Amino acid sequence: MIALKQSSTMDLEKKTSLTICRMLVTIDGPAGSGKSTTASLLAKELGLTYLDTGAMYRAVTWDSLENGIRPEDEEGVTERARNLKLELKDLDGVPSLFLDGEPLGNRIRSSEVSAAVSPVSKHPGVRKSLVKVQRSLAANGGIVAEGRDTGTTVFPFADVKIFLVADIESRASRRKNQMADMDMEGDIDSIRENINRRDHIDSTREHSPLRQPPGSIVVDTSGISIQEQVELIKNIVISKAQELARLRVWPGEKNDKAKMPLYWRLASVSVYIFYKMIFGLKTYGRDNISYRENYIFASNHISNSDPPIVGSALKRKIWILAKRELFRNFFLGRLIKKFNAIPVSRGKADRLSVMTIMDKLLKGDSVLLFPEGTRSRNGRIRELKSGLGYYAIQTGRPIVPLFIRGCDNMKECFLRKRKLEVHIGRPIRMDPGYEADDKKSDYQMLASMTREEMGMLKYGAEN
Ligand code: C5P
Repeated sequence: MIALKQSSTMDLEKKTSLTICRMLVTIDGPAGSGKSTTASLLAKELGLTYLDTGAMYRAVTWDSLENGIRPEDEEGVTERARNLKLELKDLDGVPSLFLDGEPLGNRIRSSEVSAAVSPVSKHPGVRKSLVKVQRSLAANGGIVAEGRDTGTTVFPFADVKIFLVADIESRASRRKNQMADMDMEGDIDSIRENINRRDHIDSTREHSPLRQPPGSIVVDTSGISIQEQVELIKNIVISKAQELARLRVWPGEKNDKAKMPLYWRLASVSVYIFYKMIFGLKTYGRDNISYRENYIFASNHISNSDPPIVGSALKRKIWILAKRELFRNFFLGRLIKKFNAIPVSRGKADRLSVMTIMDKLLKGDSVLLFPEGTRSRNGRIRELKSGLGYYAIQTGRPIVPLFIRGCDNMKECFLRKRKLEVHIGRPIRMDPGYEADDKKSDYQMLASMTREEMGMLKYGAEN
């Protein structure tokens, strides 16, 4: 009780520093844009751990070359990546990457490794293994991660996503100085060529290409010093932490965003208890949405029971789309209207329902969407409609991925042979100042990021 009381009266400064400790910051960008130096200094200044994902791809490359495996040998390289032991351990007071028990050191920065690393990073199996390691190292937050896909694939739910850009001359001369600091020789023309070649491979590869994460903040580092860019990003992180600390529902506080009318609360509790008692329903990750925010909830879709189950698990008032035909039934139509159902015509673009959803989101309400468009019969999560990304970018509201499992066979849930579960993911947030270069591809990208997260929730639920 005392602890609860204390946390509700805690001042914003304390809440902000608690928020920073758990934050996840991603810094992506092309080779030589100053990511590594910025990320490590930023982590040091904020008391967070620096996670150099490029070093992991370099480690796999170094290890493959040492074992005589060519970068193009997909099977061989993937096998090495799968079996490497990469850990974050303390080295002279700094958390550092260790490969099979040994500090990585400079051996991964040689020109041979630099030349081979992009072809190695193209292999999807290598990426899959490393993303898994990266996620587990960051499981408790407090991380500044740096790389090519940390804001898009590895941590789409990061609290702050930075995308660094710089012109090629600044990038090449930075890399040359970096090599000189490590007593390595480098000729500026070949460094420039290597950077250009890597940029090309990294941004055109099929799996997790280098690209600006939707909702990120672009920082151009061409003319500014490292210290200036660290300061700039530090201020962005601190102001985001203040915003999140204000939005967070701390223990002992009430969430006015989750306020429901009495009839709604009664219905929601009854539905939840029904599914819990009879079918063993459980909800995971509710803490991920303990914020005074409205959300675009995006769930996979298995059965007609999904809306009441997911709706009651979320414990807040939400708007939901329902087939127009259902409103023709006198009683059902009235009932679902009371529970914020919005009529939608299936099989064609329904502008009215799109506008209604936009309107609700902009007015500060939450909506629940099933963006696969139709139910999945085999448990596989289908491609998500890019309209999901449209809502997020147009309204600036975060997307919360959800994963529901079990409701395709309620009999087995009843017999407790199968689990009925709702998993709530972390919000994929937009930055208010974000302006997309190519809106359509961003809508699509956000839909894929959400699907990826649903997949991770599914993986977590099954393992
Ligand atoms: O950051 P650094 O230049 O050390 O990264 C080396 C290479 O690792 C990149 O050129 C890229 O091919 C690969 N990489 C990646 N995804 C990341 C980080 C690095 O593919 N998240």
